[in-house]
Amino acid sequence: MTGPFGTEEVQLVTGWGRTAATAAKHLAPETSDDVRKALLHSEGHVIPRGLGRSYGDTAQSAGGTVVDCTGLDAVRLVDVAGGKVTVAAGVSLDALMRTLVPLGLFVPVTPGTRHVTVGGAIASDIHGKNHHHDGSFCDYVESMVLDLPDGRRLHLTPEDDAFWATAGGLGLTGVVVEATLRMRPITTSSMVVDSWRAADLDACMADLEASDAAHRYSVAWIDCLATGARLGRSVITCGDHAEVDDLAPRQRSHPLAFDPHSLLQAPQVAPPGLMNRATVRAFNEVWFRKAPRRRHRSVERISTYFHPLDGVRGWNRLYGPRGFLQHQSLVPFGQEEALRSIIERLAASGCASFLAVLKRFGPANAGHLSFPMPGWTLALDLPIGPPALGPMLDALDELVVAAGGRVYLAKDSRMKAELVPQMYPRLESWRAVQRELDPGGRLRSDQSQRLQLLP
Ligand SMILES: Cc1cc2nc3c(=O)[nH]c(=O)nc-3n(C[C@H](O)[C@H](O)[C@H](O)COP(=O)(O)OP(=O)(O)OC[C@H]3O[C@@H](n4cnc5c(N)ncnc54)[C@H](O)[C@@H]3O)c2cc1C
Repeated sequence: MTGPFGTEEVQLVTGWGRTAATAAKHLAPETSDDVRKALLHSEGHVIPRGLGRSYGDTAQSAGGTVVDCTGLDAVRLVDVAGGKVTVAAGVSLDALMRTLVPLGLFVPVTPGTRHVTVGGAIASDIHGKNHHHDGSFCDYVESMVLDLPDGRRLHLTPEDDAFWATAGGLGLTGVVVEATLRMRPITTSSMVVDSWRAADLDACMADLEASDAAHRYSVAWIDCLATGARLGRSVITCGDHAEVDDLAPRQRSHPLAFDPHSLLQAPQVAPPGLMNRATVRAFNEVWFRKAPRRRHRSVERISTYFHPLDGVRGWNRLYGPRGFLQHQSLVPFGQEEALRSIIERLAASGCASFLAVLKRFGPANAGHLSFPMPGWTLALDLPIGPPALGPMLDALDELVVAAGGRVYLAKDSRMKAELVPQMYPRLESWRAVQRELDPGGRLRSDQSQRLQLLP
């Protein structure tokens, strides 16, 4: 079929976890005017999409239209002295860093991959290893331009309720076409990093808490197969932006150099079952032992520190044809026993998490559906396959809800719909704003249908 954007193909789409593919018409506008046309021209349900790094079905819409925003890739204005940038919403954080790091500016909140778009970062209100210190992505958005399915174009600032419905609003309030962001000044493209081992969960939590004030960035990798006295044994990594004096003499002549590249390419087809309990156990043992016992100040590249997984292109294929999911939960401070129960359940379940990461969050912002609030957040990457997986995750969700916590919707692919209002108490206020923005009910994703986010 041919439309205003050339051939309009029906494509099968999944999230990063490569599960639950659905077919939708794929439109790829290259300008904001094209987005407006795409919204007006398409029929049925529609959802914006960035680089597809959400794990589940949040950026797909079965039988409808997916508006691929990655063609909106213009960096419009860079104000180096004022530390601000205006970009089209399909610009990736990778592109932004390649442009801005050499100029001494850094994206104030970065997730574990650079390959997300600004639109996707806003729609999930993403967080980094510095939430306890700096908050989440939308705290740095000064303004944004939002295109609505009926052709309206809104210019939003943090004064507007629609701004905070769009922050973390999962693409269901409209298509962000442009944003102005505040950036962080830096003097080098390196980090000074302390890392050390923690013998168990208590030591890990105590060390992370103590590092809040001392370090801008902190995270713990947890060995989720360790049980008994070693439950929660972990490797803690804390970092801060390096100053020129921290660099080796040979690096000081080009302190802001930034040119990361992938060193490896994952095979197109990985053998099923590659990520199993035995391989995870072996990896965990090596990872724990290779970490230094005590902290030490090492200087690392921004890309090595923040985005190690970007070094292997297409690593999500390593999980084989059935794919994988990520379960990221949050329990408020004071509910540490719930966190312990979650890790105990996981360790006892026989399901092996290749990547298990614990972080601390600081105060929440005004995003109606934003995930972060003060507490502990645990992210688990789990291969699809073991029969125990579904019941175990349902049990984890119950523990999280009982503790007053929540699951991160940008990562979700399987949660029960009835839990959402308990996890997100501002769901109704978000729905009210969403209805005003999309009275025709055009914006829908597979996830919004599955979780009944919209009436
Ligand atoms: C390896 C890895 C590490 C990660 N680490 C973190 C982390 O540390 N912290 C964190 O918070 N997240 C993390 N994520 C998740 C990721 O940051 C989010 O899912 C992000 O939203 C993905 O952006 P994207 O451009 O790929 O968007 P997509 O995955 O394509 O879409 C995500 C959502 O954004 C909406 N959307 C996309 N573009 C627009 C637009 N222009 N206007 C309106 N809505 C839009 C979509 O409808 C969808 O709801 C990680 C993901 C991976 C794969």
